[in-house]
Parts: sequence; C-alpha cells; structure tokens
Amino acid sequence: MNILLTGGTGYIGSHTAITLHQNNHNVILYDNLTNSREETLFKIKTSLGLNLKLVIGDVLDTKTLEDTLNKYKINAVIHFAGLKSVDESITQPKKYFENNVNGTHSLIKAMKAVKVKTLIFSSSATVYGEPKYLPIDENHPKNPENPYGASKLKVENILKSLSMSDPSWKIVCLRYFNPIGSHEDVNIGDNPVGTANNLFPIILKVLKKKIKILEIFGKDYDTNDGTGIRDYIYIMDLVEGHLAALNYLKLNSGWHDVNLGTGKGYSVLEIIEKFQSVNNVIIPFKYSPRRKGDVSESYADVRKAKELLGWEARNSLDVMCKSVLKYFVLEQTSKKNVF
Ligand code: NAD
Ligand code: UDP
Repeated sequence: MNILLTGGTGYIGSHTAITLHQNNHNVILYDNLTNSREETLFKIKTSLGLNLKLVIGDVLDTKTLEDTLNKYKINAVIHFAGLKSVDESITQPKKYFENNVNGTHSLIKAMKAVKVKTLIFSSSATVYGEPKYLPIDENHPKNPENPYGASKLKVENILKSLSMSDPSWKIVCLRYFNPIGSHEDVNIGDNPVGTANNLFPIILKVLKKKIKILEIFGKDYDTNDGTGIRDYIYIMDLVEGHLAALNYLKLNSGWHDVNLGTGKGYSVLEIIEKFQSVNNVIIPFKYSPRRKGDVSESYADVRKAKELLGWEARNSLDVMCKSVLKYFVLEQTSKKNVF
C-alpha cells in the first residue's frame, strides 16, 4: 500500500514509518517540522539504509496535500499531525483548534478530492477526562479536561459524522494512552522541538542536567501513593497497533474507536522507582502542586483492541524504561562524536 503519514517525522510517526516500510508498504511522510527535525530521517538512513520520502508541508495547505496524495497514488492516510501539549493548549486554545481541527478538515477535503477514504486518526486517552470507572473502555463518557483533549474529541466527532454521511469511508480512531521508549536499532525518540511536558522527556532532561530536579505534579490524588497514574505503552507496541488497524481496514468500513494501552497503570512514584532500579541511575525529585488539565488516573480497557484488531501490547515497563535510557546514552555518545 502507498501510505501517507501526516506528522510523519514526529515521535510516533517516525517509528511507525520504519515498521510500515519493513512490512513492504510504501511510506510518504508529510510534516511542517514545527515539532520535529529532518535529522530524524538522516538517522534512519544511517542506521537502516532506509531512504524515507518527506514532503515538507502543512496539513492546513489543502492544495499541497491533494497534490501529494495524487503524486504518490496514496491508498491510506495515518493522521499523526497535531499539536500535543496540554499546557500550551490551556494558554493558547485557539492555536490548538486551528491546527488540530482545521488541519483535519483540510485533510478530509484533500482526501475527498482524490477519493482516498481510508484513514487512521491519532487520538488520545485525554478525550475521556477524569475517569468515571476503570479501566476505561471505548464507551466511557468523553469529558476532556483541557483544550488539547477537546480538540481531539472534536476531530473524532467530525470523522464519526463523516463515516455516517458516507459509509464507504474506512476510519479507525486510535486512542493512545502514554507511549514511551524508542526504536531498538535507530537513535530516535521522543525529542520535541518545543518545551518538553511529558514525563519521560522531562526525566531525560534531568539526566542531561538541563533540568535540576523532576517535579512530581500532585501528591494528593486519590491513588495508592497520591501521585497520578497512567498506562505507559512501549512505542513499538503502539506502532504494531497501527499495522493491525491497517489490516482491519482492508475488509471493514465505517468508524471504529480503539484504545491502545497495556491495561495496567503505574503512578509517577512507581515510574521513578522502576526507572532508577532497572537503569541504576538516580532521578532527584520534589513534589509540586497538581498540573492544570491533569486527571488523577487513567488506564485502558484493552479488550476491544484484542477482539477487533487482534492486537495487544507485549512489552513490560522494564523494557520501556531501559529503552528510554538507551536513547539517552546513544544521544550523548553521538554528540560526543560530533564535537
Ligand atoms: P510529535 O509532536 O512528535 O509529532 C507530531 C508531528 O506533527 C510533528 O512532527 C509536527 O511537526 C507535525 N505537525 C504538527 N502540526 C502540523 C501541521 N499543521 N502540518 C503538518 N505537520 C504538523 O507528536 P507525537 O507524540 O508523535 O504524536 C503524534 C500524534 O499522536 C499527535 O496527533 C498527538 O496528539 C497524538 N498523541 C500523542 C501522544 C503522546 O504521548 N505522544 C498521546 C496521545 C496522542
Ligand atoms: N508528570 C509529573 N511531572 C512532570 C511531567 C509529568 O509529575 O514533569 C506526571 C503527570 O502529572 C502525569 C504523569 O506524569 O500524572 C504523566 O504525564 P504526561 O504529561 O507524560 O502524560 P499525560 O498527563 O498527558 O497523560
């Protein structure tokens, strides 16, 4: 298949591109590089000899999207492109709705024009908001606590309506829980251009001594140790979920929403303890007030992913934590080699 990955040079897009290519798909990346670097492609080329094609463009630019879909005879799109910082979305909500919602409108317009109707959308567990029950299944009420989540929910509703109005669309909406770690063979990882907000990129900044101390946001949540609980999933398991979704869409049309998580939650304190013990490092931390827009606890009901897509996460938290450190060490080594 010829597959367009919007946001393809980003964290999840770049990892997915490698696996899709290795599964004999022809992959085209489309990215405006606001939160990623072209360097990622050089790293992939150096490590794997894989020459990925990148079109530098904005999803808001419908004409360039349409030309790209035509030029590369695209059969399916995976729509990763989006802004993803909860913090930033609270201070700049308009930017999030313009980019994430209008960007998707533009993509749909371009896809309609060239009659490509197979789409996988990167949504987020953030759409559920504070859990009413756990684990969170796909029918859980959707009450996002922040504008980022609200923009994702809006896109979901647009895509759902689209498939109702034209049942020949084939859409899988994947709700990611917390992807972490990096590729085993390539020195790429979660390395945002803008300010890092997610837990693991911040842990890496502490290791790099760019941040003195990790702040744990909130110690008074109603959880086992008072810190927030999340469902961390290994990036390569998450990537496999996209392959499974593509396979599913070969034979199925309509709209399908699926959680991608492990089904198990860990608190921030448990994560720090695990990261320290498997990697033999120290992460200094202190407690700070709760972060605006955060929920207390979130982990997935993973039954639908297994039943519908035949997919489940396989890797343990040990593997994930080791993978994060390996990326850090490789980055440090490659920098030393450059200077
Ligand atoms: P990322 O920021 O690394 O990648 C997103 C990519 O989209 C970046 O390369 C960025 O340059 C590009 N982009 C943004 N706006 C664009 C636009 N208008 N036109 C073209 N390119 C644009 O983020 P990621 O972690 O790889 O996330 C991918 C998707 O998954 C996002 O939609 C995100 O909201 C969603 N998601 C991520 C997580 C996570 O924890 N990483 C969790 C849930 C959902
Ligand atoms: N977190 C934290 N300190 C940080 C970053 C994150 O304590 O510097 C906590 C956050 O409050 C949440 C968990 O780590 O409980 C995961 O946060 P992340 O931003 O990675 O994911 P999200 O909140 O979007 O699920």
